[in-house]
Parts: sequence; structure tokens; C-alpha cells
Amino acid sequence: MKTPRIAIVGAGLGGACTASLLQKAGFHVDVFEQAPVFSRLGAGIHMGPNVMKIFRRMGIEDAAVDMGSKPDFWMSRDGVTGDYLSRIPLGEFALREYGAAYITIHRGDLHALQISTLQPGTLHFGKHLTNVVDDGSGIDLFFQDGARFRADIVIGADGINSCVREALLGPEKPNYSGWVAHRALIQGSDLKRFNAEFEPCVKWWTKDRHMMVYFTTSSRDEYYFVTGVPHPAWDFQGPSVPSSQEEMREAFAGYHPIVQTLIDCTTDISKWPLLNRNPLPLWSRGRMALLGDACHPMKPHMAQGGAMAIEDGAMLTRCLVETGLQDYTTAFKLYEANRRERASRVQGVSNANTWLRTPEDPAWVFAYDIYAEPLQSGMAA
Ligand code: FAD
Repeated sequence: MKTPRIAIVGAGLGGACTASLLQKAGFHVDVFEQAPVFSRLGAGIHMGPNVMKIFRRMGIEDAAVDMGSKPDFWMSRDGVTGDYLSRIPLGEFALREYGAAYITIHRGDLHALQISTLQPGTLHFGKHLTNVVDDGSGIDLFFQDGARFRADIVIGADGINSCVREALLGPEKPNYSGWVAHRALIQGSDLKRFNAEFEPCVKWWTKDRHMMVYFTTSSRDEYYFVTGVPHPAWDFQGPSVPSSQEEMREAFAGYHPIVQTLIDCTTDISKWPLLNRNPLPLWSRGRMALLGDACHPMKPHMAQGGAMAIEDGAMLTRCLVETGLQDYTTAFKLYEANRRERASRVQGVSNANTWLRTPEDPAWVFAYDIYAEPLQSGMAA
């Protein structure tokens, strides 16, 4: 008898974890990624205890903790005066109260670690999906290079411009939020020139903009900032464009001297549009299901978009284990019933950019253990 196969489109943060978890659960999984290869792009990412519990299952929790910076607090500060608006305890507190570490890490290092858990030969690079056709008894994937693959189910983990989402719901551009993010990495050696305290995880806020700053390595030799700044229209081609110190100085005029120092330390700055979508009317149909940014993209201000993609993958795996691959219809219903509310709530808070600005209890996000939650019936989906 033919081995049932799962095809995952996209090997980003969500696709890579989903493939790994499904493979560990005994499923036959192939992952198709459009990029010819992954490189260490200049960006950092937070990973909270909610995700570290999933990394535990993947066998990469300790390695991720070793690689990343472990801040003791998330600080929120007034961008102009530097006054503290909130000090959210992480570090030992997170281990004790939320059941795992809170880390900030280089995105490329984390992604490479995730990819290392995949079974050899199952990640196919240079495979840009152009069409997917569900004929009732199976599903065919068509790629730009002429290749074709037949699977039993397809998981669309192909990001905000998802081709699988388009197959389910038709073409629709994402919404431009009206905000951009500047991103830059700063070498720790450059910071040493300044007599200032660079905190491990701090967000500088004023009314309509912010700068989030943190270390991306355990040795704290690399610092990273990502901003949110209003910008009337995204009228550039491509996913990002170069920015400059001049543009940053203008955007953050009047900000605290530490922020000015960070701008002075940085030469290579990129600028990204922040895109999102309204909640989708469906997460799956027939043999196709969506996860992560393909399903519920959000502005990144809660630092949980990747986390939601990874949680989706863990829940989808759990549901497929529960029902078996043959009953993917029930699995997809269960998956949506157990994910929609939480992912939508995070999407809403993240888009509003209020997270941890003032003292609040983040336990509903960080203490969450996807394996400890009782499965809700799929009837709700
Ligand atoms: P992606 O990571 O976008 O991966 C999609 C993959 O699919 C890509 O590899 C792409 O090449 C591939 N692909 C696309 N189309 C095709 C196709 N047709 N065929 C084949 N392959 C295809 N999240 C956090 O959890 N913490 C943070 O600190 C954080 N900071 C952020 C900062 C910024 C500025 C931004 C913009 C986002 C941030 N996020 C953060 C959000 C996070 O980056 C996304 O939510 C996350 O990457 C979504 O993962 P994904 O796997 O769904 O999609």
C-alpha cells in the first residue's frame, strides 16, 4: 500500500517546526521551500516560554537556550524621558512561573537549529509553488521549475502571500498597516565605545512609534533593533528597502540619548512594510490547511507571530495524531477549534501595539502549554 504523504509548503519558522513535529510523530513529510538556500539575514526574534515547550518536544530547547540571550526583564521605557513604564520579569521568574526560558536570538541561528531537526532529504529548496489542485482522492502540487508532487494533504506554511491561501480563498493582497519596521544589527564591540548601559531587552515608546532593542546571542556580542514607525504608503518594490541613519534620526528626533547612540552605531539598516490581513473565513478546505502568517498574519509588535505559527504546527500535529491522517477532515476541524481563538486574540493585541507597554500579567501568553490543554471538540470550527 502507498505510504500516505504530507506536503508542507514553506520552510519558515512555522513550516520547519511543523515538519519536524510531524516527522517525530511518524508521518511522512516533504517540505517545499522557494528559497534556493537559507542565509543568516540580519534580524532577531523573541521566543517565549510558550514556544520553548514546543522546542522541548523537538529536542532543541537546550540548544536554543544556549544560543540566545536570556533577559531578566522586558523593560518598557518612555522614548523621550527614559522613564520606566513597565518591568516585566522574565529570566528565573519565567522558568519558575511559565515553565521555560524566555530568549531573544538571531533569527537565522534559530531557523538553522529548527532545520537541523528535519529528516535528511525531506526539505526541497528552490521549489516555488505555483498551483495546487485537490481532485478529491489526492492533491497535486505544481512548482515553477516544472516539478510536480502528489500528496494526501497539503499544509500551507508559505507566509503572508501564501499560494495555498490563494487556492483556498482566491487572490487578495495583504493590507498595508500604515507602519514600517526598521531593522539593524549592531556589533557589541561598537557599543563598547560608549559609556552607556545597553539593556538586554527594552522597548522605547512614544505615542505613535517605538524601538524594540535586544541582544541576539548568549555572549551578548550582537544587539538588534526593530522599530514601528508610521509611513503613509508602501510604494517600494520587494519585501524591504535600505534605510539610513538620516532617516532614523528624523524618525526618532527627540528620543533618548541611548536611542540616538544606537542609530549612530548602525550603518546597515533595512525598512520593511508591516502587513496584515483580516481574520480568514476558513483555515482549511478539503485536503488543504493553513498555518502561521498564511492564516493569521499580524503586525509584529507582540513578538508572537512566529510563536503562533509554531504553536499552530504543534496543535495541527497533535490533531493529526489524534485522528490519523486518513481522517484529516476531523483533524483540520479540531485544529481550527483549538487555535482560532488564541491566534485571533494575539493577532488583535499585536496589531494594537499595547503589549507590555504598562504593567500587565503576560501569563496567558507565556504560561500556555499547548500539550497540556485539553482538546476542544472540532464541532466549534
Ligand atoms: P514565514 O516565516 O514568512 O515563512 C514562509 C516561508 O514560505 C518562507 O520561507 C518563504 O520563502 C516560503 N514560501 C512563500 N511562498 C512560497 C511558495 N509559493 N512556494 C514555496 N515556498 C514559499 N515573531 C515572533 O514570534 N517573535 C518576534 O520577535 C518577531 N519579530 C518580528 C519582527 C518583524 C519586523 C516582523 C516583520 C515579524 C516578526 N515576527 C516575530 C513575526 C514572524 O516573523 C512571522 O509571524 C513568522 O515568520 C511567520 O512564520 P511562517 O512560517 O508562517 O511564515
